[in-house]
Amino acid sequence: MEKLIISKLLRWYALNKRDLPWRLTKENDLPIPYYVFVSEYMLQQTTVPTVKTRFEEFIKIWPSLKDLAKTTEPKILKFWSGLGYYSRARNLLKAAKILDKNFKSKIPDNYEDLILLPGVGDYTAKAILGIGYNESVMPLDANIERILVRLYAFKQPLIKVKKKLSQKANLFLSKKYSSHLIQSFMDYGSIICTPRNPNCSQCEIKKYCLGYQKNIQNTIPIKLKKINSKPIKFSRAYVLINEKSEILVRKRASKGMLASMLEVPNDAWVEKKSLLRRDEIAKKIEKKLIRKGDFSYSFSHFDLNLEIFYKKIRKIDYPKNKWLNIKKYSNSQLPTVMKKVLEIVM
Ligand code: SF4
Repeated sequence: MEKLIISKLLRWYALNKRDLPWRLTKENDLPIPYYVFVSEYMLQQTTVPTVKTRFEEFIKIWPSLKDLAKTTEPKILKFWSGLGYYSRARNLLKAAKILDKNFKSKIPDNYEDLILLPGVGDYTAKAILGIGYNESVMPLDANIERILVRLYAFKQPLIKVKKKLSQKANLFLSKKYSSHLIQSFMDYGSIICTPRNPNCSQCEIKKYCLGYQKNIQNTIPIKLKKINSKPIKFSRAYVLINEKSEILVRKRASKGMLASMLEVPNDAWVEKKSLLRRDEIAKKIEKKLIRKGDFSYSFSHFDLNLEIFYKKIRKIDYPKNKWLNIKKYSNSQLPTVMKKVLEIVM
């Protein structure tokens, strides 16, 4: 059965594959490993449509691993604005520098070297090997997991069938067409066997699909509902603008959240509002601050509640500070949360 599914998916893929910029192929009909490498970092926690345009911009700036390895962390963080999860950008750059130094700027073609790179886990290592080097592996992304769960009608929550899924995935290894097969699964999950309302009437493999035969395809995979247990943190941000329409900014600490990125002055982020202490800069002008509103920004591990304040100041009174032209803020090194703060004031 699995062999028949493989040949049907490959045939379907030849006619219906998505046009994605990281799939540009070399003479061997395989995508360029550097492109696969970059796209896999970008696609962690970000959707394909968002990554599509940002990937093309990325490749224009850093067309090869050698170019990427030469850049600096502030530059890649500035580029990453809007994609979120900045640790991916840092890891990508660290990995590029390691590969440039120790691997002659070549993306490794073996699991052992890939898995040691910063930000590369089992899935990413297999995706690079399978898609970029046609190695006989099956990386289990959400699309592939969903198809397998439905094909074999696994009714237990997804988290409990991970082991069974890996075993089933091993039935779909291809020595000759691994790259195409992995991508065909990914595209099939995105276009036909979609998370909601899978298009079973058009499905080429429905006669092998136990989920479809039992009519449970719309109810699986079962995902255990996440209880929103994210902690909340509190802070206050201060948008201080001088007579030249420049915003007072500073660099964050070199370690921790949003390390080394620019920010507008803000209080230390705390677990309770009662623990808030005014930032040194804001202390001096506390009484004259104008409250502009508040908003909540969601990081991966917590939500940040921010109250936003505004004040016009004189540049001469802040001789040691950095400034950012208002017109340039959207294109600056500020992380998204700080850009949102400015959007509330502008
Ligand atoms: S029959 Fe439906 S549920 Fe089964 S693989 Fe095809 S699209 Fe997915």
